[in-house]
Amino acid sequence: MKKSNYRTDNKIKGNVNKIKKTNTVVSVISALFILGSAVLSLAQPVYAQGSDYYDDDEYHADLDYSDMEIQWIDEDATDAYIEEARKLIETGTDEDIIKMYDKIDTLVDYMSTMHVLNEIRYNCNINNEEYAELSRHMSEYTTDLGDRILILLRDVLNSPHADALKAHINDDEIVESLLEYEDMTDEEKALAKERDELVQDYEKLLMGDVSTEIDGETWSFERLNNDEDLSYEEYYEMAGILYKELNTQLATIYIDLVKNLNRQAELMDYDNYAVYAYEETFGRDYDAEDAEGLYENVRKYIVPLDKKIQEDTKYNFKLETLNLSGEERIARVAPVISKIHPDLQEAWDYLTDHGLYDIDSSPTKLQGGYTMALYSYGSAFIYDYPYENWRDIETVIHEFGHYNETFHSKDSVITSVHNVDVAEIHSQGLELLCLEYADEIYGDGLKEAVTYNVLGSMTNSIIDGCIYDAFQHKVYTYEGELTVEELNRMFYETANSFGAEYEPDSLDVYGWVTVTHTFEQPMYYIGYATSALAALDILAMSVENREAAIDCYMHLTTYHGQLGFRETLDDVGLPDIFDDGVVEDISIAVEEYINGKSKISALSVLKDPVLIVSVIIIIAVVIAIICIRAKARKEMKNRQLQQDQQNQQMY
Ligand SMILES: [Zn+2]
Repeated sequence: MKKSNYRTDNKIKGNVNKIKKTNTVVSVISALFILGSAVLSLAQPVYAQGSDYYDDDEYHADLDYSDMEIQWIDEDATDAYIEEARKLIETGTDEDIIKMYDKIDTLVDYMSTMHVLNEIRYNCNINNEEYAELSRHMSEYTTDLGDRILILLRDVLNSPHADALKAHINDDEIVESLLEYEDMTDEEKALAKERDELVQDYEKLLMGDVSTEIDGETWSFERLNNDEDLSYEEYYEMAGILYKELNTQLATIYIDLVKNLNRQAELMDYDNYAVYAYEETFGRDYDAEDAEGLYENVRKYIVPLDKKIQEDTKYNFKLETLNLSGEERIARVAPVISKIHPDLQEAWDYLTDHGLYDIDSSPTKLQGGYTMALYSYGSAFIYDYPYENWRDIETVIHEFGHYNETFHSKDSVITSVHNVDVAEIHSQGLELLCLEYADEIYGDGLKEAVTYNVLGSMTNSIIDGCIYDAFQHKVYTYEGELTVEELNRMFYETANSFGAEYEPDSLDVYGWVTVTHTFEQPMYYIGYATSALAALDILAMSVENREAAIDCYMHLTTYHGQLGFRETLDDVGLPDIFDDGVVEDISIAVEEYINGKSKISALSVLKDPVLIVSVIIIIAVVIAIICIRAKARKEMKNRQLQQDQQNQQMY
């Protein structure tokens, strides 16, 4: 399962996509809207130094995370301002209109920033009702205000001030989207609210415990884990029943969510939510039919490649038990950043100097990992719920890929585009480029194991991306009445069509409900497949010419989603993964990369007499280690199992 989830707050945007940026700086302007006498305590902002890839006029607030206070806006003052702003259409000058636009742009960024800060503390304290309630409220108010703002801007664009505002926005697409905006009806507002509530119900249930009657007694995971009298078989039987119960409860929420989203899509003249999300939420320049073609190529070339990589990936005790604190993980990655490219250092320093991350374990944290933009402060925040193994270091690299792009973006909420297909190249591309330094990051001698694991998770991402996309397409286009059984059957069939080999009633079939994206960010998952393929292409390029591959990657980090995925690939000189033969080429390149690596390490062993001696000694020691390892591995597995049961993600 993929856990890293790149989220941005796009509530306010409604149908508006596409960009052109006005420089947003939190200033006295937005203090007008902030509740009470709160004043924004900003340090002197810093401006970027500029480099080969990034501009020197980026704004960064130079503010520590610990100094970021959550102060929601004064809603009455905001409502009154929007009313006043409307009068400017009749009474104001072009200049007044432009000032008003900039003020609204700043306000929306501020609201998003406060919402994100509240989400972070809520995700760290998932049982805190006050934070949950505030998040619900912020979301509801933002949806409502967003609607009023978009109507206002549309009406300005239909007034004599249209030319002035168009020139100021300076982007035909955003102007067009604003002109096409239709008022949100009461039904649409009610649907948006219901959706938020369903997602919160889902998150709570996923984090909490589940209970059910078994032989006249009430059992929960907590009771199960504390009952020492159960035999191994009894334990597994009970755990299976509870797991299915969890599936039933979460899938029931999902059925309501699908109904809600399909209705929202219908109201906006889309056939179903899958089509809507592709076009409007993620701004994709490929459609369901293109995705079908991709599935076919993935089945043909990536499924067998993945099988081979998984078979050849050996369990590595050191990696699987590499459980480091957040600070230690940061310290492992730190020396490598500038080696990839010196221009990455500025964002890294800003991240670590200002403590913009929460990546340590805590029983009250929501599972998952993400990077969220803090628009008003010109930075972002990294959140992670660690697995407690080597993957947590990998997550730091992955999320930093998102962080770096966000840090250098000059978008505001209104102008930003949520393009996951491009965004996940920033993260996964960096993971692959860091393989070169795996020994340094993870420990001596671990490079090959890390390479197999990372490439295996890339091929896995591609397959999972297709499975969850195909599954959701089926769900959103299903003609009959959805049931829990039907959903589980659809998932089972879809997964097996991509080589999963699940037994019809095995617990694997019920696990799809724990993939949070399906509920929180529907239709996101294909973005992992498309981006992983593009990232693998960069890796293939790096074998021939590392400098060119790094240049291509750095160039990509300056694309913030305004261009479509395919257009972006074309711009930076990567092949279109939807074209004939490209997925096949990528699969060949990956296989060659692995083989090349193994050959190189095998050859160097033979060439080096010291190593040959070492190998002989190692063989003798290995026999002793195997016994210890077998025992430790069993303990590890038990510990993992126990933890998984607590997380209700057992299989
Ligand atoms: Zn990501």
